Amino acid sequence: MNSSDSISHYVGGHRVAGDSGREQDVFNPATGEATARVSLASTEETNAAVAAARAAFPAWSALPPIRRARVMNRFLGLLNQHKEKLAAAITSEHGKILSDAVGEVERGIEIVEFACGIPQLLKGDYTEQIANGIDNWTMRQPLGVVAGVTPFNFPVMVPMWMFPIAIAAGNTFVLKPSPIDPTPSLLCAELMQEAGFPDGVFNVVQGDVVAVDALLANPDVAAVSFVGSTVVANKIYETGAHYGKRIQALGGAKNHMMIMPDADLDKAVDALIGSAYGSAGERCMAISAAVLVGSVADEIMPKLAEAVAALKVGSGTSDDAEMGPIVTAAARERIEGCIQQGVDAGAKLVVDGRGFTAPGFDAGFWLGGTLFDHVSQDMSIYREEIFGPVLSCVRVDNFAEGLQLINEHEYGNGVSIFTRDGNLAREFGRHVQVGMVGINVPIPVPMAWQGFGGWKRSLFGDMHVYGEEGVRFYTRQKSIMQRWPESTSRGAEFVIPNAES
Ligand code: NAD
Repeated sequence: MNSSDSISHYVGGHRVAGDSGREQDVFNPATGEATARVSLASTEETNAAVAAARAAFPAWSALPPIRRARVMNRFLGLLNQHKEKLAAAITSEHGKILSDAVGEVERGIEIVEFACGIPQLLKGDYTEQIANGIDNWTMRQPLGVVAGVTPFNFPVMVPMWMFPIAIAAGNTFVLKPSPIDPTPSLLCAELMQEAGFPDGVFNVVQGDVVAVDALLANPDVAAVSFVGSTVVANKIYETGAHYGKRIQALGGAKNHMMIMPDADLDKAVDALIGSAYGSAGERCMAISAAVLVGSVADEIMPKLAEAVAALKVGSGTSDDAEMGPIVTAAARERIEGCIQQGVDAGAKLVVDGRGFTAPGFDAGFWLGGTLFDHVSQDMSIYREEIFGPVLSCVRVDNFAEGLQLINEHEYGNGVSIFTRDGNLAREFGRHVQVGMVGINVPIPVPMAWQGFGGWKRSLFGDMHVYGEEGVRFYTRQKSIMQRWPESTSRGAEFVIPNAES
């Protein structure tokens, strides 16, 4: 590591070195080595990024939507060209396996593809002759400078849930990514520059709570999109409301998979393993609670235990690894603490991932897959988000009991049911109090045009990210009513226009 490895901000079309005097280490989680330092912005540095975005707004928002879409289309081409480079940067700083990192970039690319259709998405409504000689139409206009604050677990995809749509709609953007894996956002900024976005349309401020608080307090920031833990999401929502900003704040999760006795159990095991342990469980849509109905529990537990013990855990760059390391040493320690709480509370620890080290990577942040049986509703491993490779199995007697259990949880991000009974699946979809539902699909992350968002304490705000909800979030409606002078005057009118006037 040397000083040239210091990861900077990107403001007004250039890399800008930090001068706050505050930095933190960036690690490769597989080797445990600090590979770089990242700057942590001061309030002044953050405000400078907002000022650059504000300066870029008038010209960018005045550009016809089709011309903004063309620049986005060039960015799309560059993303496809540099997919592997972005994925390698993700694996190096996050730890997830390379194929999963490529998948993350591809999911981000889909939002860019959607944003390329912005002229169609911005079309308004028009009604001719709402009263004699009067027409009325609505249109949607961009908000101004908007900001995104994003988590460590998807350093490319989650920012792309936000900025492609915001920018295509005519806004300018300030991204505050996680300081744990800051490089991918800089790579995106450089590709956007190459694509032809004018200076200041997309800016990156590296940092922590100081930068976020500055964005919230800055009167030139019209809206903030946040994705991260529930405690911070709640704070962003409350503080943003205090400052009169538009906010969407997506929080944590405890995603259940209910398995009915009629389900194909081998498929259910595969689904559980991939969704609970993929990306080391560090996904907001990871399944962390299995709800085993009736006879399923005794049949499935031996299969699950065998599959968890057989997980291939290793460096994200190795060809056969199925799961990489934990993102930081502190996160591993926290997750190990959660596992101990489960043991102390009386849950049955079927597979214990603690103490695992990948051969040849002694200093990496390792944790093997962990499996609990006989978990109950009052235990912290059931109530709280662990955000690690830990699956808690809860046994219930029937469908109604399972549904009630899920609906009583404070989180409502994603959920899944495995069954062959179409009517039961339909009832589940209708009555489950969760924002994103999978039926024989373990991780039902909606596509770019559908919109993503949970319920309850998994989302603070009214609108989901991306899709048409995303377009609505980043634009505001204006209604225009017009009448052109008639050849003869009607005299003063004392009632508002209506169909009879
Ligand atoms: P985090 O809440 O620690 O950090 C998220 C962002 O907020 C980062 O940019 C961080 O720098 C900033 N931040 C941290 N503390 C802050 C504070 N006190 N005030 C203002 N800003 C602050 O989350 P994380 O550990 O990076 O990510 C994991 C969490 O994100 C999990 O809870 C996961 O469920 C959640 N997540 C949710 C979704 C979703 O769509 N609901 C998607 C991905 C991740």
